[in-house]
Amino acid sequence: MTAVPNHPRTEPVVQALGMPRWFRHLQPRDAKTAARIIGPLCIVAATVTIVFSVFDLVRGATDAPTAIATILVSAVVVAVGLATRRLRGSHVITWGSLPILGVLAIVGFDLASGDASVSAQVFLFFPALYAASTLPRIGVIIVTLTAIAGEAVIVFAAVPAATGAAAVGYVSAGLATASVLLARSAEEQEVLIARLRRQAAIDPLTGLATRRVLDQAAQSALSGAASSAGTGMILLDVDKFKDVNDRYGHPAGDEVLVQLAALLIRGCRKTDIVSRLGGDEIALLLPGCSPDSLLKRASSILLDVRNHAFIMSDLERIRVSVTAGVAHAPTHACDLPSLYATADAALYEAKRAGRDQVGVPARLAS
Ligand code: GH3
Ligand code: MG
Repeated sequence: MTAVPNHPRTEPVVQALGMPRWFRHLQPRDAKTAARIIGPLCIVAATVTIVFSVFDLVRGATDAPTAIATILVSAVVVAVGLATRRLRGSHVITWGSLPILGVLAIVGFDLASGDASVSAQVFLFFPALYAASTLPRIGVIIVTLTAIAGEAVIVFAAVPAATGAAAVGYVSAGLATASVLLARSAEEQEVLIARLRRQAAIDPLTGLATRRVLDQAAQSALSGAASSAGTGMILLDVDKFKDVNDRYGHPAGDEVLVQLAALLIRGCRKTDIVSRLGGDEIALLLPGCSPDSLLKRASSILLDVRNHAFIMSDLERIRVSVTAGVAHAPTHACDLPSLYATADAALYEAKRAGRDQVGVPARLAS
């Protein structure tokens, strides 16, 4: 239910080290994706350089020391590319420096080799492509402008301004266009992914968590169950809900579910998860909850629902009740399926016993 911040450690580190604020714009949106992109970019750039260094050496277009130095540097870049899987959890400074260092390395390499050919300039696309596919908008602008500045340095160091202006203009336009298009598509993709994540996590009618979220939270709560008061589960099912639909209409039934969800959320602690399992069935996961508290919570929920007037759009007031089944870990179960099964069996018994009551499994009832 809680959103995970994208870069929880970025801001404090940037401030603590007195880094300029723009540095945080160089943090990738998703370190995992960034690590996946850097590897192939490094490997492709370095492999192409190695192949053409050997080719130039064979045809006599370069001397042996230059070719060997180029191949060695490229081999290091390949190794860096292969090691990038480990970058995933890297420090904010590493992530922030990478694209700028990439541009500086390319510029330094081209200046040292006196190479201002198209094949030398084209490598500036690599840091720009990395930035456009992984960095936030301002980061993309910073890296693309750095690459364009690098392009000007490479070209104007080798040829007079009048001759080099066209090359700088064409490459800069290419860099800017590629960056804008790729950054826009990366942003659109990010919006879609966020929407899908929301859909997978939130029930559209009630706004409650989905079962998927509940299951994940339950797994982590159960893994720590032995060391705390334990974890409680309450399964709730609205009594005779079909009758509500039949009598007042399906939209009124929907409204009851929405208001019931709000009522349950209001009575929750921050650590509790309220999830709509489907239809009129709702589950509450209560981490750090003793068996006693579990029973009290379930009884108090039933009382709250009983006393609540569900007000419809036409101001008609509907009264409903719910039946509950509870289970506690580790008292009844140590794994999630058993916890569900126990609470479900208790719910079934409570329904059979007449509804609007809490079904309690044997070891809690005694
Ligand atoms: P019981 O006391 O045994 O639970 O009786 P019930 O009528 O509530 O029976 P049951 O829980 O099996 O039925 C749930 C009903 O909830 C069936 C379906 O018509 C209705 N329902 C399921 N999803 C929705 C929904 O999203 N909106 C509305 N309005 N009704 C729903
Ligand atoms: Mg029901």
